[in-house]
Amino acid sequence: MEPRLDTHWYRLSSEESLRRQNVDEARGLSDDEARKRLETFGPNELTEKQTRPAWKIFAAQFASTIIVVLIVAAGVSAFMGSYKDAIAILAIVFLNAILGLVQEYRAEQAMAALRRMSTPTVRVRREGGIREIDAVQIVPGDLLVLETGNLVPADGRVLEEANLRVQEAALTGESEAVEKDADPLTGEDISLGDRNNMVFRGTYVTYGRGSVLVTATGMQTELGHIATLLQSVEREATPLQRRLASLGHGLVLLALVVAAVIFALGYLRGESMQVLFMTAVSIAVAAIPEGLPAVVTIALALGAQRMLRRRALIRKLPAVETLGSVTVICSDKTGTLTENRMTVTMLDTANHRVDLSEHLRRTTGVIDTDAPELAPVSTAPSMKLLLAGGALCNDAELQKRKTEQDHYHAVGEPTEAALVVAAARFGFNRGELAGHLPRLDEKPFDSERKRMSTLHRIAGDGEVSGILGAANGGTRPGAAVFTKGAVDSLLTVCDRVLAAEGVEPLNDHWCRRILSAHDELASQGVRVLGFAWRPVDDPAAPGELEEKLIFVGFFGIIDPPRPEVRDAILTCRSAGIRPIMITGDHPATARSIAEDLHIADNPGTVEGRQLDRMSPEELYERVETTSVFARVSPEHKLRIVEALQKRSHVVAMTGDGVNDAPALRRADIGVAMGITGTDVSREAAHMVLLDDNFTTIVSAVEEGRTIYDNIRKFVKYSVGGNLGKILVVLLAPLLLMPMPLTPLQILWLNLLTDGLLGLGLSVEPPEPGVMQRRPIPRSQPFFSRGMLGQIVLVGVLVGGVSLGLGYWTWATGEGEWQTLVFTTIATAQIWQALAVRTNVQSLFHVGLFSNRAMLGAVAAVVLLQLAVVYLPVLQGVFGTRPLAPEQLLLSIAAGSLVFWVLEFRKALVRRAIDS
Ligand code: ADP
Ligand code: MG
Repeated sequence: MEPRLDTHWYRLSSEESLRRQNVDEARGLSDDEARKRLETFGPNELTEKQTRPAWKIFAAQFASTIIVVLIVAAGVSAFMGSYKDAIAILAIVFLNAILGLVQEYRAEQAMAALRRMSTPTVRVRREGGIREIDAVQIVPGDLLVLETGNLVPADGRVLEEANLRVQEAALTGESEAVEKDADPLTGEDISLGDRNNMVFRGTYVTYGRGSVLVTATGMQTELGHIATLLQSVEREATPLQRRLASLGHGLVLLALVVAAVIFALGYLRGESMQVLFMTAVSIAVAAIPEGLPAVVTIALALGAQRMLRRRALIRKLPAVETLGSVTVICSDKTGTLTENRMTVTMLDTANHRVDLSEHLRRTTGVIDTDAPELAPVSTAPSMKLLLAGGALCNDAELQKRKTEQDHYHAVGEPTEAALVVAAARFGFNRGELAGHLPRLDEKPFDSERKRMSTLHRIAGDGEVSGILGAANGGTRPGAAVFTKGAVDSLLTVCDRVLAAEGVEPLNDHWCRRILSAHDELASQGVRVLGFAWRPVDDPAAPGELEEKLIFVGFFGIIDPPRPEVRDAILTCRSAGIRPIMITGDHPATARSIAEDLHIADNPGTVEGRQLDRMSPEELYERVETTSVFARVSPEHKLRIVEALQKRSHVVAMTGDGVNDAPALRRADIGVAMGITGTDVSREAAHMVLLDDNFTTIVSAVEEGRTIYDNIRKFVKYSVGGNLGKILVVLLAPLLLMPMPLTPLQILWLNLLTDGLLGLGLSVEPPEPGVMQRRPIPRSQPFFSRGMLGQIVLVGVLVGGVSLGLGYWTWATGEGEWQTLVFTTIATAQIWQALAVRTNVQSLFHVGLFSNRAMLGAVAAVVLLQLAVVYLPVLQGVFGTRPLAPEQLLLSIAAGSLVFWVLEFRKALVRRAIDS
């Protein structure tokens, strides 16, 4: 085999490069060969530490402050001779670590799965056909097909290209896109930025397309060489994680201070060291919220997994949090609010108009090009020119379905596919046309110009060549330019029009006539796409393609709104979120769809060119009252996002194109399209809609709010319960009682409550009404006043009930008072967990069974606590004694007080909301 890892590919001709890589340009690699090379060169990935192995997660469980405190406690217990306590404490620490491991491992796996889903697929030529494969599978020698918006997945030599431009800033720092071509370079050491016939991993295509021979993959790529610099993908904490981590540290500090004070006071009173030490450790153990940081990670990661089930792929974890606070959703129209099932329903040229809507209602949708259903209808040459030109100035392909013979459908960008299908209905097969009129050059579509042009040589003698000759006054030109695009933009590059009597100058009269026909259609929500052409005598010297064109006519294309979006818009409104439509389409089309979907709640529609003239101050005023932005280009999106953010909005913004990336990055939630979006937009986005559907954004917001709610519920639950335990330990000496709880018992309770019941809270389903309240203000302190109040209330109740019951039993001497305190805390916290499942609704309203994980946790806690109280082995370890049945019942009943008080409180909240 020839040496493949030569670094001077740019000096070789493309033929030589292909020869050295031992690959046929027309066929690509065979599957066998690709498999072999994958074994030799390894997968095309940069070796990053993506996931932590299980043992590392396990080890990390021991690195927290609490664990250090506990291990010290175990050590001192052992030192003082109570080996049993020491071993039990260590056992619980270990159990806790296992629980943490299981949860975090699940979270890591969930995130790894999400990451895997985010890796782009690429198109390669293999076995003679085009395949779509995972970028990881690429091997040297593969032939890549790249187009606008693709990320370049490996290094390669350009073989062929059309206006290929690549943005290489990630590698070279050069922010201007670089034009590429296929010619070999001469010279020795040409720097990366000047290797114009090479493309590199980590860059992306901003324009045009090309085919590329892969020369290096994975760590062998130029990016791979510097990848060690990128290796340290640090796990960035989300704002909520950071806030809770600092809360946790605060509580640890507080616990240590309180423990020290208790210790000092007791020492002065002359109590025994052993008792004092145990009390201090108990307080520390009770106060430290072990579960706190972990629960956020888990709630966020599992939440992201739930969102995935609703077709929203989270790419950046903090987005899960931010989603709950979204106040504005700016959405594209085509495909997101509409179905992107484009169908041509109207053909219009001077003096001829064909309305297909009636016909389409009757057809089966199957196209048979040998017997075109509509061939007899299109007698006018202008109509034929429109149809054929629309199919040629087009990148969609008509394809035979494998199963049904002679039945065709079109693949490609939906607008373009619609044109190809329409042409086929009239008997113009795009493939055949392209044989007669091969494409020589092109100017691809972009959303700034809103048009696309192609140059074709007129080679064959087909019908269309004849029509072109006739349209050119009888002489067949050597070549032709075809341009299609938004009518307003197209008219700026036309100077003539194809009228019934031949070509006429495009004067004001004609412009008005075309625009009024256009507006009439557009105001019915029809998307209008214009078409123009120009004869070219010398194919070698076509001049600037897009000038002096002859306007031919237009297509009316219907793209129906998605039916489910209407409800999603209503949900948005009741959730205090403002929907805004931002589209490249015509204002009349946009307006009509917006009204249909109830997005347009105020009259004004702002157009891109108005935005250009607006000062930032003016835009600041207008964004608050505008719901439809039309004819905008991607740069406008960035301005709109910034203006909204200046008004303290939390903005979700959709985008699919290369130029949308800055706006997506800037938005609080950048939303990319999974189906129609470009790789670049997906890379920049926080979230990807796998179904391109607006409704999915709204579902994700609901999940986001739920997750935030659940984390708050957990904190409220955990801190409230811990306060109860602290009160028990603190107050008992004041009542002159002996120590009611051992550190081991407190640890055990923490394991049951935070570890099991708390987890049940983190998977609580959305509470009815989450989408009927305002977004969570981002500036809202995590501990609102109501929340602190509830924590204190719960703490006092849990502590009061268990200590009260214990005191009474201790004072009367009837029964096992210590075990009773221990068990009552457990029952009270079970009741508490059930009550805090909802913030507003009563538990009876949402039903006990709406959170099965919680029921499972309750069952487990009951069994475990019974085991500790009644199994002799465990009695020895935990220092418990069996409770009499009536004592157990008393404990359950007393614990329920917490539940009833919390339910009563929720009823008051509901009353306040209703009035
Ligand atoms: P939207 O925001 O609705 O997705 P786009 O930015 O994709 O709109 O398109 C803007 C306009 O560009 C369309 O209204 C249409 O007139 C024109 N256009 C769209 N696709 C093409 C294409 N493939 N070729 C030429 N013109 C197009
Ligand atoms: Mg679009």
